[in-house]
Amino acid sequence: MYVTVSNLKSLFQLNLSDMSKIKVFFFSLLLISFFSSCKKDIPISDCDFLDHSVIIDSLKINNKIIIIGIDGFRSDAMTQEITPFIYDFSQRNVYRNLSHLTEEDTYSGPNWSSILTGVHYNKHNVTDNSFEGSLFDLFPTFLNYIENNINTLNTISIVNWFPINQNILSKDVDYYSSNQINDSIVFEKTKNLLLNDDPLKADIIFLHFDELDAAGHNFGFSPNVEEYKSTLNILDFYVESLVSIVDSKRLSGENWLCILISDHGGDGYSHDDYNNTKIRETILIVEHPTQNFKLNHKSNMTDIAPTVLDFIGISSTKFDCDKDGQSILK
Ligand SMILES: [Zn+2]
Repeated sequence: MYVTVSNLKSLFQLNLSDMSKIKVFFFSLLLISFFSSCKKDIPISDCDFLDHSVIIDSLKINNKIIIIGIDGFRSDAMTQEITPFIYDFSQRNVYRNLSHLTEEDTYSGPNWSSILTGVHYNKHNVTDNSFEGSLFDLFPTFLNYIENNINTLNTISIVNWFPINQNILSKDVDYYSSNQINDSIVFEKTKNLLLNDDPLKADIIFLHFDELDAAGHNFGFSPNVEEYKSTLNILDFYVESLVSIVDSKRLSGENWLCILISDHGGDGYSHDDYNNTKIRETILIVEHPTQNFKLNHKSNMTDIAPTVLDFIGISSTKFDCDKDGQSILK
């Protein structure tokens, strides 16, 4: 609602019959202050007022992506000794960042939310592991964009830490694991899905392994702690097995992007101090046989969703307006 300059001018040239204009003027002021005070209570995305459009790149819609999430992966534990496969994998044609930056809020909830939405936690509003006050309707996940725009793609989320599916992804994907499962089950389920295409031929898969984080909390986040090392060594085997299946699918003509990502590092028995580089810097590896990457870019959590949508060929004006990160594909 506007009070224009000409309205105001005419209001200053008063006579008795203008009393009604005065009433209208003050009523307008009342309405304006009413609506602006309401706005403060109802969070909005600044981008929701635009006329939105989505463009699908038909050359990319058959592309496929696996995102392997490993909770609590401290970058300096990625060594030839502890993670021989991931070490070799990181030497392939990749974008690699061992100082991949967490959110300032270093809990798991905010960081997985930023990974999935492409916006920082001041927007999706997840500030701890309760997910209270989350705004995923305003800032949807990349899986939501994929399902809403190319619903022929099969989207899957298999997670150890069930709150990710419960609070973020259950409405966004075709299939999700619906209870707490341990890492070996996450691995087995995914392997079976990839090997036996029926009934779900997986196109976009999001995975989350949680036992490294548990080892860190129980025994210490450190490449010098035996339990942390041995858990990571098992995960290295899971990653090797899954990537080798993806490699064989590539040989039969499927175009897969692999993303390996963590939500935070750790030090001592926790990961709650953003000022500690061992906590705020973690690992991101994006791998593809021939893709060019923005190698000079310093990645953070909000870069994953733009990278996924870029690779799958979905260009949304709302997402582009909302997003805080950028695609690391060139
Ligand atoms: Zn933790």
